[in-house]
Amino acid sequence: MQKQYDIIIAGGGLSGLTAAILFSRKSKVLFIDPDDYPRHKMCGEYLSNEVIDFLKTLGIDLDQESAVNLEHLNFTTSNHQPLTCHLPQGGKGISRFHLDHLLYQKAIEKATFSQDKVLEARIENDSFQVSTSTEEYTCKQFLMATGKRSLLDKRLERDFIQQKSPWLAVKMHYKHDMDDNLVELHNFEGGYAGVSKVENGHVNLCYLASYDSFKKHKNVTDFNNQVLAKNKSLNVFLKNAQPVWEQPITISQISFEKKEPVENQIVMLGDTAGLIHPLCGNGMAMAIHSAKIAYEELQPFLEGQINRAQALDNYAVTWKKTFQKRLKIGRILQGILLNRTYTKLGLWFLRRFPSLLSTIIKSTHGKPI
Ligand SMILES: Cc1cc2nc3c(=O)[nH]c(=O)nc-3n(C[C@H](O)[C@H](O)[C@H](O)COP(=O)(O)OP(=O)(O)OC[C@H]3O[C@@H](n4cnc5c(N)ncnc54)[C@H](O)[C@@H]3O)c2cc1C
Repeated sequence: MQKQYDIIIAGGGLSGLTAAILFSRKSKVLFIDPDDYPRHKMCGEYLSNEVIDFLKTLGIDLDQESAVNLEHLNFTTSNHQPLTCHLPQGGKGISRFHLDHLLYQKAIEKATFSQDKVLEARIENDSFQVSTSTEEYTCKQFLMATGKRSLLDKRLERDFIQQKSPWLAVKMHYKHDMDDNLVELHNFEGGYAGVSKVENGHVNLCYLASYDSFKKHKNVTDFNNQVLAKNKSLNVFLKNAQPVWEQPITISQISFEKKEPVENQIVMLGDTAGLIHPLCGNGMAMAIHSAKIAYEELQPFLEGQINRAQALDNYAVTWKKTFQKRLKIGRILQGILLNRTYTKLGLWFLRRFPSLLSTIIKSTHGKPI
C-alpha cells in the first residue's frame, strides 16, 4: 500500500465515509477503520430528510433502498397519554448496517480503505505523520471521524475525555407490527427510547440511559423489565416484539460535553466535533453535513489557493455557525426530559399549545442541504 496521501481519514462511519467520497473526487484519499462492512452500529436509525437530496448527489437514493418514510411522532411518559405531532421535516428509517455499507461501496470507488486502527497523528514539517497498528503514513491533511470517543481523543488529551461520561446506550432490532411512518419516543426514569422501522421491516428499539439508573440492575433484560416497562407503551412493546438478534448492542461512556471542530490542526468530523443529544434525531445528518463543510472549506487549501490556517479557521467558523445552536437546544431539551417536574410542566404546556412541539423539533434541525 502507498504511504503518502493528500487526505487521511481516521474512522469510516457516516462522516468519514462521506468525506472519503467527496475528497477522493480530486485528491488521493485513505480512510481507516478497525471494522469491516457491513456492520450494525449504535443508532436510532432515524435519518433527517435534510441530507436526503445531498445523498442523491453522491449517488445514493434512499427511496430506491426501501427506506421507510418517517412522518409522525408519538411521545409518551409513564403516566400520560401520548402526545402526537407531524414531523415538520420528516426523515427516513434506514439501518446503519445498510446506510454505512452504501456509503462504503461509493467511497471505495476512488478512495483506499485500510481495516486498521489509527493510534496517533501529529503534524511535522507541514505534513501529518499518521501511525496505525501496522503502518506509518504521511498526508497533507488529517481528518478525525472516530465518533463519540476513541483512543485518539485520549492521545490528544481532548478536554471532554477528562470529564465523566455517565451515559450508556442499548439497541436491538425486533419483528413487530407497527405503523411504518411513525417514530415513537418514550420517556422512562433516567432515560428515553426511540422506536421506529427500518428498510427491511424490522423495528429498532434504541435507548439512552444514565449509568446511575442502569447500575441498580443486573443486565439489559432486567433493566428493560424493571425500568422501561414502567412506561405503558414500552411495556406493550417489550411483551409483544420478537428480538431479531441474540444480544443487543450496547455502548457506554457517551459524552455530550462540548468539543472543538479543530484541534492540533486536525479537522474533526461528525461526533468527533460534537455529539447532539439523540432525542433530536439529527446526529447522522450533522455527521454527513460536517463532511460536506470540510470538503468545501479545505479544497481551496488542497488546491493551493489558501493556507492551512485559513482553511481550518473557515471550517471551524462554518461548523459553529451551522451546528452550535442546535447542539445547545438539544442540551436544554435533554435536561427537561430527564427531570420529572420539568417534563410534567412541559407536557402540560404542549397539550395546550400543540403546535409548539413542531417548532421545538424544527429548532433541532437544519434546512435541507
Ligand atoms: C443512543 C443513540 C441513538 C442515536 N440515534 C440517532 C438517530 O436516530 N438519528 C440520528 O441522526 N442520529 C442518532 N444518533 C447519533 C448518530 O448515531 C451519530 O451522530 C453518528 O453515528 C455520527 O457519525 P460519525 O461518523 O461521527 O461516527 P460513527 O458513525 O460512530 O463512526 C466512527 C467510526 O470511527 C471508527 N474509529 C474509532 N476509533 C478509531 C481509530 N482509532 N482509528 C480508526 N477508526 C476508528 C469506528 O470504528 C467507527 O466506525 C444516536 C446516537 C446515540 C448514542
